[in-house]
Amino acid sequence: MQNKVRDIYIFIGPPGAGKGSLAEKCVEAFSWCQLSTGNVCRHHIALQTAIGKQIDFAIKSGKLVSDSLIIEMVAEWFGEHLDTANAVILDGFPRTAQQAEVFSTLIRDKYPFITERIIRLDIVDDVVVQRLCNRFICDNKSCQSVYSLAQDATSLAPEKAGVCDRCGSVLIRRKDDEEATVRERLAGYHKHERALLDHYAKAGKEVVSLLVDRPIDVVFDEFKSLVGLKS
Ligand code: AMP
Repeated sequence: MQNKVRDIYIFIGPPGAGKGSLAEKCVEAFSWCQLSTGNVCRHHIALQTAIGKQIDFAIKSGKLVSDSLIIEMVAEWFGEHLDTANAVILDGFPRTAQQAEVFSTLIRDKYPFITERIIRLDIVDDVVVQRLCNRFICDNKSCQSVYSLAQDATSLAPEKAGVCDRCGSVLIRRKDDEEATVRERLAGYHKHERALLDHYAKAGKEVVSLLVDRPIDVVFDEFKSLVGLKS
C-alpha cells in the first residue's frame, strides 16, 4: 500500500463546536479523508455488531466509550486508509490524554513521516447547548449528514423539512442531544480537555486556536489561513 497521508489534523473541541462541519468543508475542498469516531460508534450500534452491543449504553447516555476500544477502532481504520488522501482529519479523537498518548506513540513508531497538527475549536458552552438542541442528523447510518434548525444557521437547514438533502432519508435528533445529556457531555469534555492540551504542550506540539462561533464559511477561511492552506 502506498503511504499518501502526510498530515493528520486533530480537531479538539466540545460536542457541537462544528468539528464535523469543518471536516466536511476540508474533505470537499481538498479531498482529505475524515474519521469521526462518533460516526463509527453509531454505525456499530446500527449494525448490532459485538462492539455495537458493548457501547450502546455509553453512547445513548453521553458517556465515553473505553479508551482501549476506541484506540483499537482508530488504529484499525488508520491502517486501512493510509493510501486514501494527503491528509486525514480526526473528528472526536483523541478525547482523553490516554488516547492522545497512545496515538502519538503509534504515529511516532509506525508512521514517522506523518505530522500531527492540533486545532482547538473555541466556543462557549451556552452556544454549544443552543446548537445541539437544534441539531438533526440523517437516520441513514452510512450518511449521518448533519443539519440545523437554528435561526442563525439557515445555511445548515435541510432543503425539505425533515428530509436529508443527500440521500432522502428521514432526519432525527440524536438521543445524546437532549439538553441534560448535552450538559453532561460538556462537563465530561472539559474534564479531559486540560489533560489533552497538557499532553500536546509536553510533546512540544503547537495547538492552533480557532474561534468557531461564526458562520462555517468564515471559520473555514480562517482555518485555511491559520494552517497556511490555499483553496
Ligand atoms: P460524537 O459524535 O463525536 O459527539 O461522539 C458521540 C459519542 O461517541 C460520544 O459521546 C462517546 O460516547 C463516543 N465517542 C466518540 N469518540 C470517542 C472517543 N474518542 N473516546 C470515547 N468515546 C467516544
